[in-house]
Amino acid sequence: MGLNTKNHDRDRAGLKYVYPVVSRRSRGVSIGINLNPNNACNWRCVYCQVEGLVRGAAPDLDPVLLRQELEGFLDQVLSGDWMEQNAPPEARRLNDLAFSGNGEATTCPQFLEAVNVVADIMDARSMSHVKLVLITNGSMLHKVNVQTALERMESSGGEVWFKIDGGTEADRLRINSLAIPDGRVKENLQQCASRIPTRIQTCMFARDGEEPSEGQVQAYLDLLQDQVEAGVPIQDVMLYGLARPSAQLEASSLSTLPDEWLIAMAKRIQAIGLPVTTYGAEGMLS
Ligand code: SF4
Repeated sequence: MGLNTKNHDRDRAGLKYVYPVVSRRSRGVSIGINLNPNNACNWRCVYCQVEGLVRGAAPDLDPVLLRQELEGFLDQVLSGDWMEQNAPPEARRLNDLAFSGNGEATTCPQFLEAVNVVADIMDARSMSHVKLVLITNGSMLHKVNVQTALERMESSGGEVWFKIDGGTEADRLRINSLAIPDGRVKENLQQCASRIPTRIQTCMFARDGEEPSEGQVQAYLDLLQDQVEAGVPIQDVMLYGLARPSAQLEASSLSTLPDEWLIAMAKRIQAIGLPVTTYGAEGMLS
């Protein structure tokens, strides 16, 4: 079976750190970099698709292996026949390299070293047309080594997708299983957006058959509006519903929201001055 937008098989290339994926969001082939082969994340989002997810941090990095795997895989994708063998014709385009694994990449003790390895390879191959993306929950962005890594990514044309799923500590506890204070979210977002183009990624869904309440929606909008009014340079928002089943205990209580609900939500985000791209269960809505 070829890769498609619902097949995110991280073992397909048989490597430890590097895996290919055709992403509904990137509309092409993405090379993922998984710094969490131990399935450890410092959060536990109820919609997380990582099977066997455990609470914790990424393990020590083997930078030599990361370099070998990425160089070898890029050779196959850029000069070999990997695209023809594995990707449908409409997706035979290398869109991005993304730190996006089975846990939070920035918890890797050598996250800066990992970014240096990847950015150096991209620079050496003149891959400025390919994006370098960090998909993060933003929880470690107050750390100096992570901030330095963002600056290195920015110098290679990188961008960050910063997860915000709830507007209050209580909502984030319910969704991400960690009570992250508002101040920490705002400060980390500011640290991030002041260094590198930063996009917000938000997942919304029904729980026990109930849509997010008006209070929850308004709190989320207020948090974003605060940041816009404070001059934090957020690029845009990627609003998405559930596309694939959760691998967490709460899976059976989660369900997709109607497309109309997501589109109405997107309009409310746009009203505070942020561009929005909306993804429903079957792909991009607007
Ligand atoms: S931050 Fe990402 S990897 Fe971690 S639990 Fe949430 S969805 Fe899963």
